[in-house]
Amino acid sequence: MKYAELVGIYDKLEGTTKRLEKTHYLSGFLKTVDTAEMDKVLLLVQGRVFSPWDERKIGVAARLLLKAIQISTGIDAEQEWKTTGDLGRAAENLIGRKKQVTLFSQELTVDKVFDNLQKLASLEGTGTVDKKIKLIAELLTSASPLEARYIIRTVIEELRVGLGEGTIRDSIVWAYFGEQAKISYLIKENKFEVENREEYMKYVDAVQEAYDVVNDFSVVSKAAKQKGFEGLSEIKLESGTPIKVMLYPKAKNIEDAYSIVGKPAAFEYKYDGFRMQIHKNNQEIKIFTRRLDDVTEQFPDVLDFVEKHVEGDSFIIDCEAVGYDRFSKKYIAFQSISQRIRRKYDIEEIAKKFPVELNVFDVIFYNGENLIKKPFSERRKILVSMITDPEYLKIKPAEQFITSNISEAEEFYQKSLEAGNEGIMVKNLAGIYKPGARVGYGVKVKPTMETVDAVIVGAEWGEGKRSAWLASFIIAVRDAETGEFLEIGRVGTGIKEKAEEGVSFGQLTEMMKPLIIKEEGKIVYVKPEIVIEINYEEIQRSPTYKSGYALRFPRLVHLREERSPEEITTLEDIEIIYESQRGRG
Ligand code: AMP
Repeated sequence: MKYAELVGIYDKLEGTTKRLEKTHYLSGFLKTVDTAEMDKVLLLVQGRVFSPWDERKIGVAARLLLKAIQISTGIDAEQEWKTTGDLGRAAENLIGRKKQVTLFSQELTVDKVFDNLQKLASLEGTGTVDKKIKLIAELLTSASPLEARYIIRTVIEELRVGLGEGTIRDSIVWAYFGEQAKISYLIKENKFEVENREEYMKYVDAVQEAYDVVNDFSVVSKAAKQKGFEGLSEIKLESGTPIKVMLYPKAKNIEDAYSIVGKPAAFEYKYDGFRMQIHKNNQEIKIFTRRLDDVTEQFPDVLDFVEKHVEGDSFIIDCEAVGYDRFSKKYIAFQSISQRIRRKYDIEEIAKKFPVELNVFDVIFYNGENLIKKPFSERRKILVSMITDPEYLKIKPAEQFITSNISEAEEFYQKSLEAGNEGIMVKNLAGIYKPGARVGYGVKVKPTMETVDAVIVGAEWGEGKRSAWLASFIIAVRDAETGEFLEIGRVGTGIKEKAEEGVSFGQLTEMMKPLIIKEEGKIVYVKPEIVIEINYEEIQRSPTYKSGYALRFPRLVHLREERSPEEITTLEDIEIIYESQRGRG
């Protein structure tokens, strides 16, 4: 396929904010994609060249792209970048100017673009920088202005076409089941109709379910294209590839929790550690974080006790790993063990220094059987039976108590807090496991005011003694509908000047430098990658920020390295917190 065809779709998607219109364009396009090209096209449509769980990253900084643009156009791109504030547009404009002079170009294909971008990640050793520049410049030299815009944006991982997962799912439905479901869409009026809503939803659910278990739209799309509805049901959950974790909304208190999950409910300790999704496939065990990063190598101790104390040839379990002090045996703050997640050296040593205990709270797959649709009470039974030695304290089922009685539940809540936990989880006994969704089959109850997990989208250089650092960080929450990140404030408090005291300006500055995609005077904008937990006094309405809200007195609490930008606080969460504040006042 010509890259220009894909770029035509990017441009159309970017040109509208209407979700139905986007679905219309994408579904029309999907119909034209060959099965053989589906993998590459569907990753590229999402602005990726690697699956989310692939360790490899493109890893090219803006400065390097400026060089590549200069080589392919002969023009210094710095000024254009400053004027447009968008590296993609800068490349587009400059290529446009150059093209008036030299009309020669070799047509780019999806294959060529994809392969060159993937190669960027595999380069190592001396001369890497030059080789990277060459790979990008090679593409830009053959690119049309519009192609250049999207090549650059793909490299910086900021496609900006506003395509959420829900829209991709619906596009697959429209593309391959549009006729069966008798869909009609009038673009002029943005009017969508189906003859039989139930029938339509059957396809939507089937595509969603298939996606839930493989976590890969190209597999789903290929199955639908080749084998239709039956193809979707043939997609089976297997251990080895991570699936999205189920998420839990917040309930105000136990009464509220009961009203969401029903009575009786399962109450569990809410351990304050980090989530591990552990897969076993025959002899191979793999550990993934909730961001779906593979951290198997970082946790040899966990591998060991899962191997010895969890029974089964194949399984996927959902657990919370909590750090504890070797001597006092008390739980320790998540921050101390979080350094284990990225550790690449002295792994055994740090494992001894910061041991973890594993609390297993769900099972999704067991000995070849998909348990997603089994009620939670059954999954829990299986989980308990899998742990062969619950007396061995390093791995155990999460502490659980089932009751319909509020005062008993309150007592359990107290007990959990006294044991050093964050709060409790309250779960619907009949609830299924819904990957990637915050559906309310389980809720969390915590005593503290909800903190916000935000992503850093920009920052301003400091002044005076802080002038070498980025000092004020622009933070954003996520619009779950469009996937867009919406600014909600700036934070400069809670960040330390000295590295030994915690998260420091220096550390954040170093983390952000390679992510810079735009500079405007003293302000830089970065790829939304760094997630931080923010405390604040209250949420106010605000016309200043795109989210429509602002955090009053925001303060950085922690870096949340295990969390992906897709999982941060959503605009909807902010609205709920805002409303509940008003209720209090
Ligand atoms: P939060 O991170 O505040 O959204 O709360 C949800 C997280 O709590 C989950 O992603 C788990 O990492 C963690 N957690 C701790 N204990 C449990 C439990 N018993 N059941 C489910 N999640 C738990």
